[in-house]
Amino acid sequence: MTVPLNLRGEGRARILRALHGKGPASRPQLVTLTGLSRATVASLVADLIDEGVVREDDTPSPESGSRPNGRPAVTVSVVPQAAYAAGADIGHTHVHVILCDLAGQPVWDRRVAHDTDLEPVRTLRTVADFVAEALAETGVSARQVLGLGVDIACPVDSGGDGLDAASIMPGWLGVRPASELTRLTGLTTSLTNDANAGALGERLYGAGRGVDDLIYVRLSAGIGAGVISGGRLITGSGGLAGEVGHLPVAPGGLVCRCGNRGCLETVASPAALADLLSRSWRQPIEPADLPELFRDARVGVRVALQEAGEAVGRAIATMVTLLDPRLVIVGGDLACAGEALLDPIRRTVERYAMPTEHRKLDVVAGELSTWAEVRGAAGVIINDAPDTLAVNFGNR
Ligand SMILES: [Zn+2]
Repeated sequence: MTVPLNLRGEGRARILRALHGKGPASRPQLVTLTGLSRATVASLVADLIDEGVVREDDTPSPESGSRPNGRPAVTVSVVPQAAYAAGADIGHTHVHVILCDLAGQPVWDRRVAHDTDLEPVRTLRTVADFVAEALAETGVSARQVLGLGVDIACPVDSGGDGLDAASIMPGWLGVRPASELTRLTGLTTSLTNDANAGALGERLYGAGRGVDDLIYVRLSAGIGAGVISGGRLITGSGGLAGEVGHLPVAPGGLVCRCGNRGCLETVASPAALADLLSRSWRQPIEPADLPELFRDARVGVRVALQEAGEAVGRAIATMVTLLDPRLVIVGGDLACAGEALLDPIRRTVERYAMPTEHRKLDVVAGELSTWAEVRGAAGVIINDAPDTLAVNFGNR
């Protein structure tokens, strides 16, 4: 979000960005980090403390420098409960809503099974109702909520409100979820594709902390990837970057919902694995049955996971050759299969990515499980918090 800042606002934003990004800092450190004068830092920090946005810490950090009396300089930090962000993950078969504090820690959450694809109006109403429940049950006021970050299992256009829904979620054609949710909740709403939100979530709070070049691959009802390169999310010209689930991997294979044939999603999604096992065992298997089957690891399950892992691995190998990430994070519903899936992915990536002596690549499971997307969606709002708080908070 770009907000015109006056000079005082710009100073406040610099201080909040420094504290938000690097954690506690002493006033002398803030002078260095922000380029502001000592007097300006002292005055703005005093204002932020009065407003309850920043507080002095009880335990100064050893790196914070010394005061003239030899004691460590007092550090200040952002008060996590000074403001909140709401997050909503709209999947094909569920809705998950959370309320997070400024540290990104969820203080409320609700997840329900929900047939999303054909019911946009009811889905968005459910999100809005859950946000209202979150506020009522936590006692957080709407004025303390900086915004609502939403992710959805559909490509989101570069404008951030339109969906490329024709083949992926046809019931949502023409729906503008961010505008509609702003109307329903009164909150500024941002909209992100689910795999992109998962990449942001794992980078902010999970397996990708501190890594600037990573690929997050989400293996759920839809398969997609979020790509962070040089610390920035790659969205492409129309929001379609990272649609790895629709790379062709099985010539002559099943027709995919995107309209092409043999996409990765037709061989490595939970639905594809459940279909395979249903035919093999001649009994109905649903995607929801898979986690338990993974735990039992019967022979057919191991083979199905190995083949799915190899198909995913080939697609990831292509992305690794093109994008040179430091880390690949595997998330989504299938990730609970653990090493039975990760091992064939790693071996196939190693086999098919361009050979080089210099690549330092790790392929790991996500740390946030089914929370990666919704925490990343809320993280979009939290990332903007320094600017939002700098401009608005005093007037809220
Ligand atoms: Zn496809």
